[in-house]
Amino acid sequence: MISTTPALARDIDGKAISAQVLDEVREEVLALANQQIYPALAVLLVGDDPASHVYVRNKLLRAKDVGIRSLEYRLPETASQAQVLELIAQLNADPAVNGILVQLPLPASIDEQAVIHAIDPIKDVDGFHRENVGGLVQGIEVLTPCTPSGCMRLLLEICGDLSGLHAVVIGRSNIVGKPMATLLLQANCSVSVVHSRSVDAPALCRLADIVVAAVGRPALIDASWLKPGAVVIDVGINRITSEFGDRLVGDVDYASARTVARAITPVPGGVGPMTIAYLLKNTLIASQLQRTARLDGALSVSAPVLG
Ligand code: NAP
Repeated sequence: MISTTPALARDIDGKAISAQVLDEVREEVLALANQQIYPALAVLLVGDDPASHVYVRNKLLRAKDVGIRSLEYRLPETASQAQVLELIAQLNADPAVNGILVQLPLPASIDEQAVIHAIDPIKDVDGFHRENVGGLVQGIEVLTPCTPSGCMRLLLEICGDLSGLHAVVIGRSNIVGKPMATLLLQANCSVSVVHSRSVDAPALCRLADIVVAAVGRPALIDASWLKPGAVVIDVGINRITSEFGDRLVGDVDYASARTVARAITPVPGGVGPMTIAYLLKNTLIASQLQRTARLDGALSVSAPVLG
């Protein structure tokens, strides 16, 4: 009897594709420098969350790599909401700052929504402000959340035209699931969104040509959730601690899923690097939007400071 080994999915190499995005950003930064324009990103970290420190360090390093000026602000865990809002008001008013990123999560004593909505939408490089969210839904050019933008680039590299494909997004958070579903819809996919109240999530997923998992549950999705030949984007980053040390795993059981899928993002090395690349791309877009607004004499008025 001849035994056959099933073909395994190809890896979607987020490191390589993010390097292309970073090269595009670097080229644009150089072109702007020739016009004496130097885009700058302000990054605000409040408190001592160790993972947030790592994320901020990586963002600052990549910004430096592509020639974007970065300004780092740190406030202690005990900082008050008023202090955070005061700093954001200063950054909103500073014409030398093009992008403002507040690393989430914030300490529990600070109202995250109030902080997000205090950022001037034209400097909101995370794309979380309600003005940018509304623009995204209406298909207006805006600052779009970085992780879904990065996932779209991966999908376009793998699938080309997405028109008519059925995409299932697992997760409906404001920062990943909802904007992801919106972008897929704009790319002419038929989109289903699965969440914790969905009935028989695996059966819904098995209908999908594209699965985007943004759940935060280690290895929840295995081969039994997938249609043969599906393209799988694993956004999840889950830290598993064992006697052998810490390791990161996605929301997808990679070893199982790759026996059925056509292509899959590994964790780490899939979506993560794309998020940072699109943060820097957004900083360029923000700087362009601000120049256009200045030329039009209509630079957006900074959002009112609350609290
Ligand atoms: P979140 O805000 O906690 O949202 C999780 C979503 O998953 C919710 O909509 C929830 O449904 C849904 N869900 C939970 N359990 C489920 C289940 N058993 N079946 C179906 N749906 C379920 O998380 P998030 O901020 O979107 O992040 C998701 C993951 O992506 C996390 O691991 C996070 O670390 C990672 N992440 C990675 C990047 C990156 O750059 N790679 C960026 C952002 C986030 P309900 O709405 O019904 O509760």
